[in-house]
Order: sequence, then C-alpha cells, then structure tokens
Amino acid sequence: MPNSRRGVLKAGLALGIASAVGGGAWELSKVKTKANIIISGGGAAGIGIANKLLHHLNGANITVIDPRNHHWYQPGQTLLLAGAYKTREDVISSNQQYLSNEINWLSDEVVEYQPDSNQVKTRQGQTLSYDYLIVATGLELRYDKIEGLDTTQIGQDNIASIYYSPEAGITSHKQALAFAQSKGGQALFTRPQGAMKCAGAPMKATNLVEFFVRQAGNRDAFNFEYLTSEPFLFSVQAFNERLKEIWQTRKINANFEHTLIGIDSAAKTATFRNSEGESRSLDWEFIHVVPPMSAVKSLRESELADNVRFKGYLEVDKHSMQHTRYPNVFGVGDTVGTPIGKTAASVKSQIPVVAENIRSLIEGREPTAAWGGYTSCPMILDVGHAMLWEFDYSMQPMTALPFEVVDPLAVSELAWVMEKSLIRPVYDIMLHGYTPV
Ligand SMILES: Cc1cc2nc3c(=O)[nH]c(=O)nc-3n(C[C@H](O)[C@H](O)[C@H](O)COP(=O)(O)OP(=O)(O)OC[C@H]3O[C@@H](n4cnc5c(N)ncnc54)[C@H](O)[C@@H]3O)c2cc1C
Repeated sequence: MPNSRRGVLKAGLALGIASAVGGGAWELSKVKTKANIIISGGGAAGIGIANKLLHHLNGANITVIDPRNHHWYQPGQTLLLAGAYKTREDVISSNQQYLSNEINWLSDEVVEYQPDSNQVKTRQGQTLSYDYLIVATGLELRYDKIEGLDTTQIGQDNIASIYYSPEAGITSHKQALAFAQSKGGQALFTRPQGAMKCAGAPMKATNLVEFFVRQAGNRDAFNFEYLTSEPFLFSVQAFNERLKEIWQTRKINANFEHTLIGIDSAAKTATFRNSEGESRSLDWEFIHVVPPMSAVKSLRESELADNVRFKGYLEVDKHSMQHTRYPNVFGVGDTVGTPIGKTAASVKSQIPVVAENIRSLIEGREPTAAWGGYTSCPMILDVGHAMLWEFDYSMQPMTALPFEVVDPLAVSELAWVMEKSLIRPVYDIMLHGYTPV
C-alpha cells in the first residue's frame, strides 16, 4: 500500500479513537432533563442526531419515527455504478446496529405536523406530543414528474438511475458495461431542476460511464451529452471551470438549462425543455436519469414548510437550523431549506450544531451554535481517480480537515481511495453520533 494511502487510513483510525475518547468527556457534562424529543425520519440525519443528543442529555425521552426498517448508505450508490461495490449488502444495513438502546424506534410514518399544539400524527393513527421536534425526513424522488417514465423500466432497456434503489445501482453498472461493449450510440445524462441530494452525482455517473466506454476501446463510436437544468456544471466556480476543462478533453458535451420532461422508452427519445421554454427531443442508446426532488409530502404540505424561498422544505435559520417560526423545531439533513448542503457531509457538520442548540434551549440559554454550510462532493472521474471538493456558504474551496490532504483541483488517486474506503467509516461513526471532522 502506498504511504499516502496508509496515512489516510491511519488518520481515519486516529479520528475514530479521538472521537471515542471525546465521548468520555461528554459523559461528565450531560444535562439532566425529562425532555420529550421526537425525530421525524431515521436516515443518516435522524439516527446521527438521535445518538448525538445522548452525548448531551441525560434522561431525555428520544423517539425516532421512520417506516424504513433498514439503513441505506446512499453515497455508496455511485460506487455500485463504478463496480467498486457489488451487492445490495454493500449499501444496506440494519438500523439497530447504529441505534443506542436508550433511543425508542417507532416503525411508523409521520403524516401530519401540528406545531401549534406540539404534536405529530402517524400513519398508524397515533398522536404524539413533543417538547422538541427534529425533522429529518430527507427528500422524495419525483420520477412522477418525468412524463412517460415508468420506474419499473429503470434497469431495463438502457434506462439507468443510481438514485432509485440499491438494485438500480447494480443494474446501472451492468447496463453501462453492456453499452460500452455495444457498437456505439448516444448516451444522455440528466440533472434535474431545483435542489437535489449530492448534486455532483449526475456528473460522477457521466464520468464513470464515459470511462467504461473509453476502456472498451471504441470511444469514437459513442457520443456523450450531459443535460442540466442549471446554467453551469457546478455552483463553485473553480470546480466548474476545472470540470469543464476535463470534459473538453474527454469529449463530454454539456448542455445547460435543459430540463428532462419526458421519456419514450420504445422510441428511445428524451424530451427536454430549454430556458426559452422550447422542447428539444434527443435520441439515446443509454440514458442515466436523475429525477427532480422535493421535500416529502407530509412536510411540504404542513405549517412547517417554507412557502417563500425554499418551497416545501423545512423553514429554518440557515445557521442555527432552528425553525424560524417554531423555536422548538429543528431540522437536519436534506429536508432543510438552505441554499446548499444536501449531502451526508453536510449532515455530519449539522448534527453537532443542532444537538448543541437543543441543549442550550433546555438549559435556558440562547442557541448560538452555527452551521457554516459545509458540504463535500468527491468528484469521481473514473475507477481510480477523483477530485476532493469541499466548500461552504462562501462558495470557495475549503477543507474540513486540519490541513489540505489533496489539492481539490488535482486528479487524485488518493481522493478516490478516500471516497471508496474512508468516507464509509467516517459516515458510520457519524451515525453513532461522533463527528470529529
Ligand atoms: C446517488 C447518491 C450519491 C450520493 N453521494 C454522496 C456523497 O458522495 N457524499 C455525501 O456526503 N452525500 C452523498 N449523497 C447524499 C446523502 O446520501 C444524503 O445527503 C443523506 O443521506 C441525507 O440524509 P437524510 O437523513 O437527510 O436523508 P435520508 O438518509 O434519505 O433519510 C431520510 C429518512 O426519512 C424517512 N422518512 C421519509 N418520510 C418520512 C415520514 N413522513 N415520516 C417518517 N420518516 C420519513 C425515510 O424513510 C428515510 O429513512 C448521495 C446520495 C445519493 C442518492
């Protein structure tokens, strides 16, 4: 193993130990409380904040409500497409392995928020009261907004979509390899309008499929079109320019302000709407679809939703993560209405802020902890190389590590190793409530 890789793995281990030791210090400074805390949604954010609260509070009654009986490590979906992960078990695990037995898990779904009476209603008919509510219900995938797309077609007829499910991640890999071995044709990659989780993933998918095609040895017989509803590839200018440069050499064509509105799988065509409102139809032999996304129905139709700027998302102060109208309500993860930050990396940096602020409220203090918008996107370039992109509200490249491990604009083997082997352990310790970096 090269020294650089060994160093990164050691650093990961050290951070894990450091955080575990830090846990001992929290034990001594816990606040005694009988607060009743409900967490709606038990994905990355919900489980992580539940465990983190246990580091701060002694005696709180913490309940996580989620109908999903397993945990889905969604950042692994791009690794399934890459072929670096192979099976469903690489991304699916049990919720129980992360949950402390001090946390109550309710296998149910929140269908209604009643913030004026501090209550939520569940699908199974329960009405539950809370002192504090944390909303962590992630995003809803809106394949229904793409006319003609039947989700049962994903994984067939060269319609790929790593967002859909672990199985779709696996079949997307197989489809990409088969396409690379074919006689040639046009491949389309879409990026939807509006906020989405891991805004880098549509480009990672493009890079990986182009890599498989190039490896198969007949690159000139294929055409690559990336169609995004945005006017740029990436919102951080330095990253945007760098990827444009790379795509020029790799002959991947970027089409801006193109939103996928329909698919005809029989005719193998896709229809896009451009910025002038005109429709444009393109043929494809392979298409990777990324659906539009929104907050889940029960939130977007509730009193808690933002009706002005981030429509349907939880209306929060972008620093404290506290609801702007209901001070005993907080948000974590993809469902919060903030300008950026729908990644697990953001969840990691939001969790300590929300835990600290709820602790402050319980102690009768002002909630002063602030989230700076940290997010990260390891831009996978091929199987073996990536660029480690991190930024925050300043929209400038930065790093959460004590020093820059890799140049964010460099095509880096180390960044790929971090994506493939280091991010998962950091994610797992985050679910246990430890957020050292
Ligand atoms: C293809 C892909 C690639 C990604 N790559 C990366 C990456 O490289 N790096 C990175 O940092 N992040 C990445 N992400 C993003 C990351 O996975 C998400 O940001 C993270 O999972 C957000 O956590 P969350 O808890 O907010 O949402 P989720 O993990 O989606 O959890 C939401 C939970 O809420 C539950 N829920 C929904 N509605 C209700 C309801 N009404 N009542 C109760 N529970 C409900 C759901 O069942 C689910 O368990 C990627 C995501 C995808 C899809």
